[in-house]
This record gives sequence, C-alpha cells and structure tokens, in this order.
Amino acid sequence: MSKSFRRFDALEAVRKAEETLIARNGSDKHEMNIAEIFGENCLSIDTLKERLPTSVWKTLKKTIRDNAPLDPNVADAVAVVMKEWATEKGASHYTHWFQPLTGATAEKHDSFVTPNQGGGAITQFSGHDLLRGEPDASSFPSGGLRPTFEARGYTAWDPTSPAFIIENGNGSTLCIPTVFASWKGESLDFKTPLLRSIEALNIQALRALKLFGKDDVTWVNSTGGYEQEYFLIDQEYFYRRPDIMTSGRTLFGAKPPKGQELDDHYFGSIPDRILSFMLEVEKELYRVGVPVKTRHNEVAPGQFEFAPVFEKANVAADHQQLTMITLRRMARKYGLVCLLHEKPFAGLNGSGKHANWSLTSSRDKNLLEPGESPHENMQFLFFFTATLKAIYEHQGLLRASVASAGNDHRLGANEAPPAIISAYIGEQLEDIVRQIKNGGATSSKKGGLLGLGIPVLPNIPKHAGDRNRTSPLAFTGNKFEFRAVGSEQTVSFPTTILNTAVAGAIDDMSTRLEALLAKENDFEKALGLLLKETYDEIDKILFSGDGYSEEWQKEAEARGLLNLKTTMDALPELTNEKSVRLFEKYNVLTEKELDSRLEIYLEQYFIKLNIEAETTEDVVRTMIIPAGIRYLNEILALNDRGKTTGLDVSTSKTLAEDVNTVLGQLLVSVEKLGKVNSELGGDTIPEKAEHLSRVVLPEMNKVRELADRLEKLVADDFWPLPSYREMLFVK
Ligand code: ADP
Ligand code: MG
Repeated sequence: MSKSFRRFDALEAVRKAEETLIARNGSDKHEMNIAEIFGENCLSIDTLKERLPTSVWKTLKKTIRDNAPLDPNVADAVAVVMKEWATEKGASHYTHWFQPLTGATAEKHDSFVTPNQGGGAITQFSGHDLLRGEPDASSFPSGGLRPTFEARGYTAWDPTSPAFIIENGNGSTLCIPTVFASWKGESLDFKTPLLRSIEALNIQALRALKLFGKDDVTWVNSTGGYEQEYFLIDQEYFYRRPDIMTSGRTLFGAKPPKGQELDDHYFGSIPDRILSFMLEVEKELYRVGVPVKTRHNEVAPGQFEFAPVFEKANVAADHQQLTMITLRRMARKYGLVCLLHEKPFAGLNGSGKHANWSLTSSRDKNLLEPGESPHENMQFLFFFTATLKAIYEHQGLLRASVASAGNDHRLGANEAPPAIISAYIGEQLEDIVRQIKNGGATSSKKGGLLGLGIPVLPNIPKHAGDRNRTSPLAFTGNKFEFRAVGSEQTVSFPTTILNTAVAGAIDDMSTRLEALLAKENDFEKALGLLLKETYDEIDKILFSGDGYSEEWQKEAEARGLLNLKTTMDALPELTNEKSVRLFEKYNVLTEKELDSRLEIYLEQYFIKLNIEAETTEDVVRTMIIPAGIRYLNEILALNDRGKTTGLDVSTSKTLAEDVNTVLGQLLVSVEKLGKVNSELGGDTIPEKAEHLSRVVLPEMNKVRELADRLEKLVADDFWPLPSYREMLFVK
C-alpha cells in the first residue's frame, strides 16, 4: 500500500464510534442523584462512627480529626467494619493503595478469602492486614535507599484518608490509602513527607496562634484544591501515533492553520461526546467521595479542566490521584484517550495543575481569610506574610518541586508561569505592604480610612486584587494558587514543600515576635515591627507585572531571584544545604531521603528523554522518511512521463528538489540523534541526565523541525501520522 490509508480509516472509525455512543446514550437513561450517590463507595467518617464501638470511634476520631497519633489497638475493630462494609459492596479483594516515587499510584491486590480446614473458604481481614502490607518493593524506585538484598518495603495504613472501593465489571476492590517505607523506616513515597509536613505546620501554627491568644485551637492543617487540565483525543488517533503512545506527547506535527488563536474554545459549549464523558467521570468521582465541582473547556482546542472543592491537603492529594486515574479510565469507555502530559501539542497551550493552598484550623475556617475585625486581620497578616517569606526563602525548592521533563516545555514558555518564582498579591495588599514598610499602615487603597483605633495595622479589603495570570504564585483573595505545577505531576510534593517552608517561616517569625514582645509590651506594635522587618527582607519576591516579559527576566536577576530554567537547573536545589537544613529541622525528609529523591527524579528525567529520542528516531526512519520517499517517487514518475509526453512538468522538478533536500537533511539529523542518544554521556545517572538535556534534546528538536517541514511538503494522503488538525478538532 503506497498511501496512508491507515490514517483515513481512523476517521471512519471515529465516526462509527460516535454513532455507537449516540445510540448508547439514547438507550440508557442517565440520571444522577448526587445526594444519593455521593460517597457511596467511600468509607466515610459517618459510616465508621455508625458501625464502630463508641470507645474505638472516639480514639480513631482523635487521629482523623485532630492529627493525634494512631492507637494500634483500634485497628482490629476498624478492620472488621471495613471488611463488612466492603463485602456488602461486593468487594472480593483489598489493596494497600500508595504513592511510590514514580508519581503515580500503586496497588497490590489480596483476596479476603482464606481457606478453612473443611476445604471451603471464609473471608478474613485483620487489624494486622489493615495496618501493614508488603508489596514487592523492588519494582519501585528507591534511589539507593533499598539495596536489593533487603528489597522489602512495607505499606502502612493512613487513617486520615478514607478507604474507598474501585469497581470493575467483574468485581470490586477495597482500596486502603497507605504510606510506603523501607524496613528502616525511610520514606519511599510521596505521602509520608506530606503527612510529616502537615504535622510540622500544625506544630508551628499552633505555637503562633498561642501568641495571638488562641490557646484552644487543637489543630491546623493545610487545605488543597487542585485544578486539573487535560486533553482528549480520539483513541483511533492515539493508536496511530507511536509518539503519543510511548511518551504521552506528539514528537512531530506541524501546527494547524486554526489553532487556539481564535479563542473560541475557552468556556465554549462542550461537545456531546465530551460532555457524556465528563458526566460519567463526575459520577464515578462522586461515588468515591471526590467533590469535583467545575468543568469547562480550556484554552487550547481539545483541552478541558476539572476543579474540585478543596479539602484537607492529604485527602485532597489522594483525591487528585483518583481524579487522574478516573479521567484516564473513563476516556477509554468513550473511545477517547486522556492526555495528562504537560505539553502534548507543540505551539498550543500546555496543561497545568493549579494547586490552591491555604491553612485551616479547628477554630478558623481559613487562616488566610482577611477578617472582619482588626484583631483577626493581625492574625491574617501574620500567616499571609509567613507564606510570602516561605516563598521567598525557598523559591529554589518550590521550583524544584515542579521540575520534570514534561513541565520544562511549559515553564518559561509564554503560556505558563515563568521559571522565576515570584508572588502576586494584588494592588491593595501591595499598598498595605508598602505602608507597613513605611512604619505602619493607616489606610487601604480602596476602602478609605481604616482607622478603627488601630495605629499600626490596617483593615484588609476582602477578596481584593486583580488576577495576574502570569504569576507562578498568586494570592487570590483567601488562598495562594501555585500555578507552576504540571498536569501530570503529583501534587503531594509541591504541597509538602509549601507546608514545610511555611512551617519554617512561621517558626522563625514566632521566635522573633516572642523576642520583640519581651522588649515591647504592645502586641500590635511588636507585630508591626516584625512585619516591617520581614518585608524589608522579602519584598523582592512580590511582582505584579507581566511575568512573560523580557524586562522581568532582567529585573528578577537584578533583584537576585533565582531563574532556574530547566529541570537540570532546578533539581539540585533539593539537596543544597539550606534545603537539607529545612527538611531535617522539621522531620519531613532526611538528607538520605532527599538524596534518593534527587537521584530518582534525575533518572526519570533521563529515561523519559531517552525514550522520546528513541521514538523520534524510530518514527522518522520507519514512517516519515518512507512517506517522503514515496512522495518523491511519485513526483519523479511525473517528471519521467513529462519527457515521454512532451508535457512541461518543470515545476515538479522544483518540488522534487525541495522534498529531496529536506529528506537529505532529515536523514543526516536523525543519524546524529541516534548516535548521541546511544552514547548516554557517562555511567552515572546525573551524567546521563545532563547529556540528555544538553546534547540529545537539541538534536531531537532539530529532527522535529525538519520532519514538520516535510509534513508541509508531502501530499496529505502520503503522510502516515494523524495531523494536529485531525487530533484536535475531531471530537
Ligand atoms: P479559579 O477558577 O479562578 O482558579 P476558583 O474560585 O474556581 O478559582 O477556585 C479554584 C480552586 O481553589 C477550587 O478547586 C477551590 O476548591 C480551591 N480553593 C478555594 N478555597 C480554597 C482554600 N481555602 N484552600 C485550598 N483551595 C481552595
Ligand atoms: Mg485557577
């Protein structure tokens, strides 16, 4: 077959799939009673309370609600309730569900079934089974923490995140959120440091609240609301794109004539098939207790977003993972593939995951909510300033927490926040910061005089301030929004960094406040001094201009802010002295654990790029060059016929020359890519990662440029890969 019928039969298949879906949607009635289904597959606090003996419930509640250490004696009773509840729901198996350092989630299923002596079987699940599991840890990355001779790791129940049931047509499984550690207790996952960071924050924030006279607060936690962007393409196209199949993104593809320039997609009406898919995703998520709230089209064609209602960070992070899993699973049911990669299509907007972050306590709903009274506002200013201080002091860590091969395509391009970490707080709060620096604020820009008898501290306008879409960290009224997180990344790590850095800032500010209070009896005055002193040190982090502009790059440099453009620039921040000190001080990660993480991230970076380069080479050699040659052959045949018929076909000669030239360059370029990619650049992981980043990636980009040029020359019916136009606009 000389032409790419494979591509055109995809169009046919897409059309058929749509017909089937329309028929299916017409036949079953889709009704959703949210109140009835919400949380039906989630072992909620209410269900536990209802089914557990009162004394056990009381003990467990202290752990779930107040972050108290788990009393192992409750495990047996909880196990009984869990098994009963799960088997009632049709579950035959259970799994410890955890977040290994791959960034995805992992599970190993065990059956409830235990044979009895009479040759039959009973179902069994003990406190021991609940508390501890032993997956085959050797297949998960450990970055040298777990030598092969002691390959075992264990998972341990996290009672603060509810268990849930995942259904499949053929059976159901009880999933128990767990942490994953080595036998020596070193963390091998993302959840352990997240939980430790929540505890660090809790301790420091409680201490600070005491200074504000709040002795009765029992806990402080961070909250997370994670918006998820994603692309959908028809699976027929997916199967015909080896690049998307192996790397999650297009390694080739000329930009379509109609891209996102028209801006008609954002908030536009959602196509029918997509809407059916979204409704089913929502239904599934509701059933496991994930409170998804908003759905809409995103900026690029084929791009969409889901956002949930925020929850306590640990639960929200688990729910974020469930959201990604559900998006991927459900897409297949609708003949679609969900692409979570940060940059599936060059030249179009990439996908991010805005991580909304705030603090909540047993008493205050939101510690970053500007209050009604001056007293509340002092407290608001304290925590708000502590967060800014954390961002300033640990910009490098925050940048490192979102570093990945995929996110490198986004950060620094003019669509996502720049690689420079800065904070946007809005005009009115900036004004207040200025006044504090000048020795006490007395007015707010819009709200007129603040007076209220307070000499030093202002009344804070509620929900003031514009949005600045170019800022990597924006204060949006009552929360910070960390916009640099990549769409495919785990939110656990960026949240861990924020929690830990803020714990450090609160600690430091509390110590200073205590010292000031020892000299100065007036609390407001002391706090005013502290805030002034703090802003004098950190206000370089505030930026309200255009983060995409050239001037900002220069100004940020003049301010001494970090500009870590790529993953390779950013990752070393994880293990520098300042970071190690922070993590060790608050018992979030040891130096050894940090070293292991650095190694794992570098390895993942290396592997990802290595696969991309291999796929590029493969597709060029086996699909793209052959297509060019066939087309060239066809032009040359015309040329020959011109000679025998006497027809003037000289234009075909020019065309043949063009195609031939690009083909020649492409062949040279792909040879070079293959060579540098197989060289690896050294024996150690950092050497390999460096080589991939510095040498291989630029060669890959050159190959792509030539291949995309060829795509524009070769006849459409010869081109083997579904085009951007097809993938993005056929829905
Ligand atoms: P936008 O669409 O402009 O980003 P939204 O008001 O829709 O802003 O909120 C975005 C996300 O922020 C939602 O997922 C929401 O749950 C989350 N969010 C709101 N308040 C908080 C909070 N206190 N802590 C964490 N996340 C929050
Ligand atoms: Mg947002």
